[in-house]
Amino acid sequence: MMADGKKVLVTGATGYVASWIVKRLLEEGHHVHATARNISQKNKTTHLQKLADESLGEISFFEADLLQEGAFEKAMKDCEIVFHTASPFITVVKDAQKDLIDPALLGTRNVLEQAKATPSVQRVVLTSSCAAMYTDAIDCQKGPNGELDESIWNDTASLDYQPYNYSKTLAEKAAWEIADTQDQWKLVTINPSLIFGPALAPEFSKSESLAIFKQLADGSLSTGVPRVGIGISDIRDAAEAHYQAGFKPNASGRNIVSGHNTNMLEMARLVHEKFGDQYKVPHSLAPKWLLYLVGPMVNKVITWKFVKNNVDVEWKANNSKSIKELDITYRPLEETLSDTFEQAIQQGIVKPK
Ligand code: NAP
Repeated sequence: MMADGKKVLVTGATGYVASWIVKRLLEEGHHVHATARNISQKNKTTHLQKLADESLGEISFFEADLLQEGAFEKAMKDCEIVFHTASPFITVVKDAQKDLIDPALLGTRNVLEQAKATPSVQRVVLTSSCAAMYTDAIDCQKGPNGELDESIWNDTASLDYQPYNYSKTLAEKAAWEIADTQDQWKLVTINPSLIFGPALAPEFSKSESLAIFKQLADGSLSTGVPRVGIGISDIRDAAEAHYQAGFKPNASGRNIVSGHNTNMLEMARLVHEKFGDQYKVPHSLAPKWLLYLVGPMVNKVITWKFVKNNVDVEWKANNSKSIKELDITYRPLEETLSDTFEQAIQQGIVKPK
């Protein structure tokens, strides 16, 4: 380990986003305390151990459940920086309170209260989301120049409508409330838009990110792709933003991390341009009237309200703070899409024509 390597905690370390944060930390020679709910599931931890073996840093695994009070005490001991990423990213749930809100909100309280009780902690980096700022693309219009910025809070999600966004909003608000009760550590939040990019784990990730990408790649949208406004960030850029938020002395506050204001149709067409000769990549427009007609029958999430507020509506966010204060240089969207598609090919998720 490098002489100036620090002990750092990453919660939910086996996840899609967290794995790239762990990689970055290990490359710099830090000692990562990695938590997961079940560390005996080797298919989830082997890739992280391998990264540690090949880098300057080291990794130790700890078991911790977000819902169990005190669960993070051992893992956090002697850590200077806490990266709290663990939180469910799923959109189809049976019980939104139990499956999303409780782990997000109670988990954030649990981890940050533990940080208050752990004298070594100097900084907490919370993986929040642009979802804590908006529910539907139309919400971007509330921001200055029709763009989301760090002053905007989501006030439209609820337990019944886009509960994932609600879970991220409640969790980030709770984090700021707890941060305000102490002056031992500084809180910095990273608020990424939808993240695409290759996963480090050998299996195609369970993250909702890749479930959404899969729809673009596996032909399931063959009847047409809706022009749903969305923001995209590359997983490697998102990991870099977390790293900088942890180590840059003047990193502060909320930070939008989003490389591109785009929409689903534009992305499908970019993927089709590169891979369409060999793979069946959907790229025709699903018109708004058709979505009103059949959307709710095809997918529970595509309600009339969703169609009205997202289809043919521009999604825009201002990422200038992340460029200026976290030194992020965003990758081209084509590169992110291409690298994700290549991995989907390798893993047999997309089949040749
Ligand atoms: P992911 O691969 O599904 O990771 C979610 C992580 O949360 C897993 O490591 C999981 O741990 C952990 N987790 C869930 N419930 C838990 C519980 N009760 N106790 C302990 N750990 C629990 O999804 P991801 O995309 O990487 O998401 C990671 C974070 O990034 C989340 O905070 C998400 O909101 C945020 N984010 C993601 C995106 C995106 O587009 N992917 C965009 C913005 C923000 P186990 O290994 O134990 O299951």
